[in-house]
Amino acid sequence: MKDRARAVVIGGGVVGVSTLYHLARKGWSDSVLIERKELTSGSTWHAAGLLPLFNLSYSVGQIHKYSVRFYQELQEETGMNVGFTNCSNIRLARTKDRWDEYMYYAGVAETIGVPLKILTPEEVKEVWPLCETDGILGAIQHPEDGYIQPADLTQALAKGARDRGATIYRNTAVTGIEQQPDGQWLVKTDKGDILAEHVVSATGNFARKTGAMVGLDVPVIPVEHQYIVTEPHPAIVERKKKGLPEMGVLREADSSWYMREENGGLLLGPYEKGAPVCYVDGPSDDSEYELFQEDLDRLMPHIETAVARVPAFGEVGIKKVYNGAIAYTPDGSPIIGPAPGLRNFWLNEGHSFGVTAAGGAGWQLAEWIVDGEPTIDMMGVDPRRFGPYATEGYLKEKNEEAYANVFTMHYPDEERAAARPLKTTPVYSRLKALGGVFGSVYGWERANWYAPEGYSVPADELGVGADVLTAHNHAPALEDGRIVEKWSFRRSNYFEHVGNEVKAVSEGVGVLDMSAFAKMEVSGPGARGWLDSILANPVPKKRGRIALSHVLTRHGGVRSEFTVYEWKPGRFYLVSAGAYEAHDHDVLRKLAPTDGSVTLQPITQMYGVLVLAGPKSREVLRKLTRTPLDNASFPWLTAKPISVGTASAHALRVNFVGELGWELHHPIEQQTVIFDMLMEAGAEFGIRPFGIRAMTAMAIEKSYRLIPRELSIEYSAWESGLDRFVKLDREDFIGRDALVALKEKGPRWRFVTLEVHGVTDADARGNESIRKDGLLVGRATHGGYGWRVGKSLALAMVEPGMAQEGTELDIVILGKAHKATVIGESPFDPDNLALRADG
Ligand SMILES: Cc1cc2nc3c(=O)[nH]c(=O)nc-3n(C[C@H](O)[C@H](O)[C@H](O)COP(=O)(O)OP(=O)(O)OC[C@H]3O[C@@H](n4cnc5c(N)ncnc54)[C@H](O)[C@@H]3O)c2cc1C
Repeated sequence: MKDRARAVVIGGGVVGVSTLYHLARKGWSDSVLIERKELTSGSTWHAAGLLPLFNLSYSVGQIHKYSVRFYQELQEETGMNVGFTNCSNIRLARTKDRWDEYMYYAGVAETIGVPLKILTPEEVKEVWPLCETDGILGAIQHPEDGYIQPADLTQALAKGARDRGATIYRNTAVTGIEQQPDGQWLVKTDKGDILAEHVVSATGNFARKTGAMVGLDVPVIPVEHQYIVTEPHPAIVERKKKGLPEMGVLREADSSWYMREENGGLLLGPYEKGAPVCYVDGPSDDSEYELFQEDLDRLMPHIETAVARVPAFGEVGIKKVYNGAIAYTPDGSPIIGPAPGLRNFWLNEGHSFGVTAAGGAGWQLAEWIVDGEPTIDMMGVDPRRFGPYATEGYLKEKNEEAYANVFTMHYPDEERAAARPLKTTPVYSRLKALGGVFGSVYGWERANWYAPEGYSVPADELGVGADVLTAHNHAPALEDGRIVEKWSFRRSNYFEHVGNEVKAVSEGVGVLDMSAFAKMEVSGPGARGWLDSILANPVPKKRGRIALSHVLTRHGGVRSEFTVYEWKPGRFYLVSAGAYEAHDHDVLRKLAPTDGSVTLQPITQMYGVLVLAGPKSREVLRKLTRTPLDNASFPWLTAKPISVGTASAHALRVNFVGELGWELHHPIEQQTVIFDMLMEAGAEFGIRPFGIRAMTAMAIEKSYRLIPRELSIEYSAWESGLDRFVKLDREDFIGRDALVALKEKGPRWRFVTLEVHGVTDADARGNESIRKDGLLVGRATHGGYGWRVGKSLALAMVEPGMAQEGTELDIVILGKAHKATVIGESPFDPDNLALRADG
C-alpha cells in the first residue's frame, strides 16, 4: 500500500469514486480511494438509479445537469456500459399550486440550460399508456432524464479513475485521521497509513463516524427509504416484445411517489410521512449491502394512490421490497465543500440523490480542491450553511422532515416547523405577543411579518384544491388555533400586512430584530494590514467610518460580504449575514495569519441588533441618548458607542431599508430593556415592529445586492455592480489581479433593476428567465413588490447589451411573460436623501 498521496478519498460509493475520477481528471493522478468493503456496498448498490433533473436549487440543479450529460460521456470514455436508460421523466400536477411550482421551476431549468417540455394529460397518456390521467392538470417532462445502473456507473467511474493513474484500495478501513504539524493528514487504515495533503470524506451513512475522527459534527443522519419491485406485467412484457419505447419515470408529486419499469414489472418508490431516521450512531463495523425490514403499512396510502393512477401496478404481485438507508441533511441538499475549521479536509456527504448528484458533486469538489474555488455557485450545498446548533436531536427531527417533504410543494415562503424554536433572542416573546410570524434562519427565529391582533386566514382559503397526500400549504396553527400564514408562489395573505409595515417605517418609524447577524471581532497588531489584504474595500482610515467590504475569490467573484467598523482602537467589528455565520467565519479563519499577529473572536451570541428605521427614528433615539444625532455630528455611514437610556449600544448609521436610521448593536443581555425603551419612546410617533419581508421588499427598492443572488462566485464584482466597493489603487488584495484583467476583457453579465409590468398577483422571486425577442438574455436574481415606489420590481443579471436604462425585455413569471423595463438603480430614493436626512 502506498504511504503518500496527494488526496485520499474515503468511501467507495458512487460519490467517492466520482470525486476520485474528477481529481484524477484534473491531473491529480496520485490520488487514492479507500473503501472498507467492496465498491458500492454502502447505499449505492440498492439505489433505484433515477436521475431526476428537477431541483429548485440553482446549485443542485447545475450539479444534476452536469451528471446526466457526463454519465453518457463516461460510457464512451471507458467503454463500460453504465446502464443509462434515457426514457425521460414525467412529473404530474394535480393542483394549481403544483402547476405554479412547475412553472417556477421552468425558470430555473431555462436559466441553467435544462430542456423541459410541458405535456397535456393526453400527451401523458401517449407516453405512459398505463397511466390514468383523470384529475391531472398537466405534466412537465425532462426528455434528457432517465435512470442508470448505480453499480455499473460506479465501476465505470473507477475504471476511468484508474486509467488516469488513481489507486483504489478495497477492503481497507480508515480507522483514524490526524493532522500533522505541517498540515498534512495522516490517514490510518487497518492495512497501513497514508500521508496526504487533502482528505475527502465521502462515506455516506458513516459520515458522522468519519467526522468524529477529526472532531466534526457532520449534519447527516440517514432516513429509511423503501421501494417496491413487482413481478412482470403482461402489458409491459408485451410492449417490450413489440419494441415499444420504455415508459418514462413517472412522478406523482401530489401523492409523493415515483414509478418506473423494472424488468417487465414496475418499481414504486414512495416518500412517506413517518419514515424514521436510522444509523444514528452510524452503521456497524461489519455493515455491508445492508437492508432493513420492510414496512408496507407505512407505504399503504401511497400504494393506494399508485394503484388508482396506474391500475397495472395492483394487478401483479410484489417481487421484492428494498428498505435502505438514504443519507439526509436538515434541508435535504447534500454537503459539498470544505469542512469548517479544518484545512484541506473536504466533505462530499449527505447525498439523498447521490446517484444523480455524484457526477456534478465530484466535478465541483475537484475544482475546489485543485484550483481553490468551484466554478459554479455552491452556496446551496456548502457544508458551512449549517452551524454548531445542528446536533443529533435537531438532525433527527429535521432530517425526517426533509425526507417527508421531498415531494411537497417547495413554496418560496415556506417555513418548516420541525425543531423550532431553537435559537431565540431575548425579545422573542415580546415580538410574538405583538403578532410576530416567525421564520427560521441558521436556527434563529426571526419575525417575517406581524399579523394584526386576532387575525387568521379564512379556512376556505387554505385547501390546495384537491384531495392530495402532500396538501401542506400553510404554517402550523398558533397555540390558540389560528392559522395566520398561507404559503404560495403568488402574493399571499400577508402581502398587504407587509405593505402596512413598509408604510409605517417609511412614514414614521419601525424596529426590526436583526440579532441573527454574524459578528466577529478582529484585533491584534496585524489586524488592519491583514483585513486590507483580503478585502476589496479597505478598512476606513478614519475611526468610526463604516465600510461595506467583500472577500472576493481569486477569479474576482464574491465569496463573503462584511460591514466593517473599527469600534475600539485597533479592534475591528465585522458583521455579515446571519445565514452564513459558519461560512463567513470559516473563510476569515482560513485566511488569517498563523503567527499570532491577528486574533479572531466570534461574538455573534454576545451582541443583539435592533434596527431603528424611518424618518422619525432620530426623534425616538434622541429621547434616549445625549449623543448628538445631527448629520454634522453623526453622518451617514459612521458609527459610535452611545448610551441608550440606562443601556448602551454601538449605533451604526446604516441599514438595509434605505431610510434614516441606526442599527443598535448592543450587549445581548440588555436587549429587552432597549427594546422596551424604544417602543415607549417611539409610541408618540406610532412606532411598530417590522419583519424580514418588509425589510426585503425595501431592500429590493434600493437595488441592494445579496449573497448568493446577485453576489456570487459566478459573477465578478464588476458584473454585480460593486465598482464603488472595490479599490484597485492598492498593492494587493484577493481577486485584484483577476479584476484588473476582467476590466480589460469586459463583463459577461450586468446587474440591472427592472420594472415589471402587468403584474397582478405574482411578482418575480429570482430564477425567472429574462428574454429579448424570445431569446434568453439573463436571469432574475430577486424580486418583489416595491411598496414605496408602487411597482413590481426584479433584480437581474443580463447580457451587457441589455443593461441600458430603458431597454425593454420580457420576464417569465410562473409561465407568463411580462414586459419589463431596465430602470435606474435604486428606484426608491436614488440619491439616498432619506438615508442622509439631517435634523
Ligand atoms: C432505497 C433507495 C433508493 C434510492 N434511489 C435513488 C435514486 O433513484 N437516485 C438517486 O440519485 N439516489 C438514490 N438513492 C440514494 C443513493 O443511494 C445515495 O445517495 C448514494 O448511493 C450515496 O452514495 P455515497 O457514495 O455518498 O454513499 P455510499 O454508497 O453509502 O458509499 C459510502 C462508502 O463509504 C464507505 N466507508 C464508510 N466509512 C469508511 C471508512 N472509515 N473507511 C473506508 N470506507 C468507508 C462505505 O463502506 C461505503 O461503501 C436511493 C437510496 C435508497 C436507500
